[in-house]
Amino acid sequence: MQSINYFIKGSLGKLKRKLMSKNLMRTEKREYTLMLVPHQGNQIIRLRIPIKLLKYTVLAVCAVMVLAGGTILYYRNQASVASVEKQEIERLQKLNEDQNTQIEKLAKKTAVLQEDMNRLDKLDTDLRRLVNTEELPASRSGVVRPGYIGQGGIRVNPEISQLNELVEQLQNGVKQREDSLSSIKEMLLERNARLAVTPSIWPANGEVTSRFGSRDNPWGGGGGDWHPGIDIAGDYGAPIVATAEGKVVHSSWYGGYGNLVEIDHGNGIQTLYGHCSKTVAQVGQTVKKGEVIAYMGSTGNSTGTHVHYEIRVNGTAVNPTSFL
Ligand SMILES: [Zn+2]
Repeated sequence: MQSINYFIKGSLGKLKRKLMSKNLMRTEKREYTLMLVPHQGNQIIRLRIPIKLLKYTVLAVCAVMVLAGGTILYYRNQASVASVEKQEIERLQKLNEDQNTQIEKLAKKTAVLQEDMNRLDKLDTDLRRLVNTEELPASRSGVVRPGYIGQGGIRVNPEISQLNELVEQLQNGVKQREDSLSSIKEMLLERNARLAVTPSIWPANGEVTSRFGSRDNPWGGGGGDWHPGIDIAGDYGAPIVATAEGKVVHSSWYGGYGNLVEIDHGNGIQTLYGHCSKTVAQVGQTVKKGEVIAYMGSTGNSTGTHVHYEIRVNGTAVNPTSFL
């Protein structure tokens, strides 16, 4: 009986120790002992390290490593972004510089154009003076020299708005100049047309032997008569030309004029060429200024080879020399 009691007590003791051991494991109160054994025979150093502390230390180290890794990755990424941004900024700066350069070049060209426009203004004024018009050129106003352009070149960066304003002024200037020059062209065309039909050249080469107006009687016998034209003496058969553009209204014998060509120039002006040896212009024909219409002779009431040149304005003979 006693042995049974010992057995039970022994078993209960083992069970108790096992249970206690498991309990210790659960509560993790186990410890590791780190022994430092110096070689010189000094006392052994024992460091008792609770396993809990060890676990927390490992966790802490892991956390620190994760944090450190994350931080490194973050800053590396930030550095990469900063590098890209720096490159972009440099690219934009370069682009900005290039654009500024382009704007400056454009400003210079605009200024040159403005100078050209100013010269055209002056030319326009001169042309108008030559064609005797008192009308002022339409584009004299509104042309402004750009303030940032000097003799020495550009030093102030022009604003885009300034350039736009200048270009608009130039566009307006070009339009006004075009209108002005067109009106001058119209004036000149009109003048040319008027000039073409206005007697303005000599009808033949030769010497004036009789002037317009009162003169001594060419036939002798005293007295005088009134000469409605001028007589130009030259070589027999020398060409006689129309002194202005016009329409031939007569080309044959006409009393004392002998062989006569008469041209109507419009605006009430006619020219007559008398005493011709031969007429070549045909009635109804339009002749140009300088075109041969007849040849010099001495037909009709004539004392020698010459052409009698006469200009009539609204039917009245006028002095031809006032047209020469
Ligand atoms: Zn005459």
